[in-house]
Amino acid sequence: MDIERYLRDHIRTVPDWPEPGIQFRDITPLLQDPKVFRVLIDSFVHRYMDPALRPTVVAGLDARGFIIGSVLAYELALGFVPIRKKGKLPFTTVEETYELEYGSATVELHTDAVKPGDRVLLIDDLIATGGTMMAGKKLLEKLGATVTEGAAIVDLPELGGSARLKAAGLPLFTLLDFA
Ligand code: IMP
Repeated sequence: MDIERYLRDHIRTVPDWPEPGIQFRDITPLLQDPKVFRVLIDSFVHRYMDPALRPTVVAGLDARGFIIGSVLAYELALGFVPIRKKGKLPFTTVEETYELEYGSATVELHTDAVKPGDRVLLIDDLIATGGTMMAGKKLLEKLGATVTEGAAIVDLPELGGSARLKAAGLPLFTLLDFA
């Protein structure tokens, strides 16, 4: 089976959402079909079962990173930690602010979510400018963990995020891209 093609065929492109000119890549059809959902998760499971790549923790980015990251962590028999938009986590946090096209965003992580020596897989649904994943990497590193790889379903290479993340020393694994 051509897995990349199969997954790509289940991503919906919504024009002009959330703003005119944006082609939003909607991954919800991947989750909705049980066979596709399994192929999607197994694509990550197979990679990270390899002892050389196996993390000690999976960290997911708000919010679609929670869906795939938590199922992946469960399948790998690992713990899952959420990196959330500011104001959602109840315990003490570290935070990181990053620039958006208009304005800025802040993400947070509980201070006890990871510990020095942890090898963290950081996962989200999609990499655009790379700002969100870069902020997540910085948060995990503030707590002394190492981010061994960033993973996503989709890369949008024209926005430069994956190149920026790799230049910052983060290996990346994505299942497909939209040029
Ligand atoms: P970045 O920080 O510019 O790389 O944007 C990536 C973040 O925005 C991820 O958390 C994505 O979930 C979200 N995002 C941006 N564009 C899209 C899209 O076309 N589809 C789904 N999510 C998107």
